[in-house]
Amino acid sequence: MTILPCMKHTSPVALVTGANKGIGKEIARVLATRGFTVLVGSRDLARGEAAARDMAGDARALQLDVTRADSIAAAAARIREELGRLDVLVNNAGIARTSTDGTPASLDNILRESAPSRAPLALVRAVFETNVFGVIAVTQALLPLLREAPAARVVNVSSSLGSLTRISAPDVPHRRVGGVAYAPSKTALNAVTVAFAQELEDTAIKVNAACPGYTATDLNDHSGTRTVAEAARRPVELALLGPDGPTGTLSSDAGPVPW
Ligand code: NAP
Repeated sequence: MTILPCMKHTSPVALVTGANKGIGKEIARVLATRGFTVLVGSRDLARGEAAARDMAGDARALQLDVTRADSIAAAAARIREELGRLDVLVNNAGIARTSTDGTPASLDNILRESAPSRAPLALVRAVFETNVFGVIAVTQALLPLLREAPAARVVNVSSSLGSLTRISAPDVPHRRVGGVAYAPSKTALNAVTVAFAQELEDTAIKVNAACPGYTATDLNDHSGTRTVAEAARRPVELALLGPDGPTGTLSSDAGPVPW
């Protein structure tokens, strides 16, 4: 039997992790209106399928739990087999807490649970597993496809809580909320962004981090003051960067954010 090589999909392909709801769903929705075939990453396939159905354009659910090596490998294999290309990777999936006791994800609860003096190491590890190690693992698994694209873009959805400059300023609201888990995980994600950007600086791939701003989603029990449409703006711009765009940066839709 002759095995035919996979034909490359004709439209550019974008994968957004954690795209079944919140900011990731909006990033995916917008990219699908910009001519991308969008893979709606979701650790629960049915929730990803429901989200994809809400989107105009070519949006397809892809089972992907960024903390599971088997799920990452299966997702990468499926993209290679079914589409043969990947042009944009948005590492959006993220968590701020692990509580399953039904208490709301209010800023007070996040702050209390991740207080440096008493946060359980299991919480810190779980937050890093998703927000940092998950990004490294997913990016590594997909880099072979991204390298084959003419000008791939990687966007890491970070947070201004990961900016040591910002959270050290006494007048910044909520500066302590990320405690010893969420905020340090985003600081590490910023460093991971720079590391990937530097290794890839001789390629056409650009790797940048975006701060969506304080946005009303399940992550913060919808206490955020921005809409998902506003939050998705900078990640989408970074996904669509032209050849003269930057790499290895951290920014929001208001401009550069200090490290
Ligand atoms: P959200 O509504 O809670 O959405 C988070 C998404 O990540 C969900 O789809 C969730 O899937 C997914 N996810 C969590 N763990 C995952 C895993 N192991 N594998 C795959 N997907 C996983 O929160 P959001 O506010 O949209 O957050 C999106 C990103 O923006 C995060 O990186 C967050 O840190 C960042 N951010 C948010 C704010 C804000 O104010 N909201 C501010 C700055 C940065 P499930 O539905 O399965 O849980």
